[in-house]
Amino acid sequence: MNANNTSQKIPCPVCKNDIHFETLALLQGAQFSCNHCDAKISLMADSIPKAKEVYQKYKQVKETVQPKVSKK
Ligand SMILES: [Zn+2]
Repeated sequence: MNANNTSQKIPCPVCKNDIHFETLALLQGAQFSCNHCDAKISLMADSIPKAKEVYQKYKQVKETVQPKVSKK
């Protein structure tokens, strides 16, 4: 698995076609469009700081999680 791969997909709200998007680009305000019906997806400007926060926390959690080894 490639740790740098932030590419995701989301079903188009209009036609359910998969829209591929980059999480980081989306957080930076990029817009992605459905290549089937040209519907646009983007984060609302208001929600970008919140989404960034969630993403940072998610990354932090992933980086700090250690496999638990139980010794008996
Ligand atoms: Zn579509």
